[in-house]
Amino acid sequence: MDSEVLLRNRPFSHIYVEKRVLEDKEYSVKAKEIMGHFPEACIIEIEHYKDVFNRHKQCFPEQHESQALVLAVKQGNLVYPGAEVCQSMGNEHFYYTSCMMNCLFDCEYCYLKGMYPSGNMVVFLNLRDIFKRVQELLREHPVYLCVSYDTDLLAAEALTGYVKEWMKFTDSNPGLTIEVRTKAGNIEFERLFSKPLQRSESVIFAFTLSPEYVITHYEHRTGSLKGRIDSIKKALECGLAVRLCFDPMIYCPDWKKEYEIMMETVISEIPMDKIRDVSVGSFRLSEDYLKTMRRNMPGSAVVQYPYENDGGVYHYSHKLTNDMESWMVSRLGEHVPENRIFRWGEE
Ligand code: SF4
Repeated sequence: MDSEVLLRNRPFSHIYVEKRVLEDKEYSVKAKEIMGHFPEACIIEIEHYKDVFNRHKQCFPEQHESQALVLAVKQGNLVYPGAEVCQSMGNEHFYYTSCMMNCLFDCEYCYLKGMYPSGNMVVFLNLRDIFKRVQELLREHPVYLCVSYDTDLLAAEALTGYVKEWMKFTDSNPGLTIEVRTKAGNIEFERLFSKPLQRSESVIFAFTLSPEYVITHYEHRTGSLKGRIDSIKKALECGLAVRLCFDPMIYCPDWKKEYEIMMETVISEIPMDKIRDVSVGSFRLSEDYLKTMRRNMPGSAVVQYPYENDGGVYHYSHKLTNDMESWMVSRLGEHVPENRIFRWGEE
């Protein structure tokens, strides 16, 4: 066995807990519930999650292999205006929030690898404060909120139960629409709600779909294409709103053939007339994040690809971007009305 593997801690063998979590009755109950999943973990009390998460000279890919868990209380801004590189899907009041930082999945091209100094996973326990902030915004206007950015919330549902909490909150707060984006497969939707949602259109499950080649080579630990499609079918059966995301499209050898094989499966398996909408976009990433990722992942084809830089954002050449995205839009156009296809950059 590789000696490097022998030296690694098991994932979540160490759990760091902020002092203020332990001092609050509600947070400490939730923390104990989460820690209960790891009875052998070493628990370490800390002042602030940043003392662990923001340390200098951490190596994201190494840490991600044996993630520690950090339980914390989020302070400062709790809800942010939607980022420029993200699609608003036609929504005027577009926001996102992060009740977790980092992900159980391990996509090589994930921007988190460039954005965060640490591969450890942080769970914020004060969901109630985020809910309060969302309610303040709702007093001003309707809110479209992406809740599964900076993580894949469904991947960690067994640990946190947060998707269930968000669904409950959204259902009882008119004006709020949330997007839960995921690459998870075989999701047990029946576990997510005990009774049907009254406002089922307000909770959008957004599934990122990729060809098997991309999943195998770059989207480690995520659901297989079949697993994701099964989840989509289950979500539709449960009457949930489903979005398909062909974003980011990732270039790979013979990309058209790989994407065509995927599309044939998607179209034959999913009732496309039941899909709420579709997003299309190719890989793009800020210069700073990609620089860090290139330093940390010298052997990754998707990270080391010779992207072009436009004003601080790396992307494929304009020709390749256009070839890939136009092909996808036109392929989807055979099954989805044009006004339900959102292409990145056209908004
Ligand atoms: S599923 Fe999303 S958040 Fe998780 S590693 Fe992949 S790209 Fe990143």
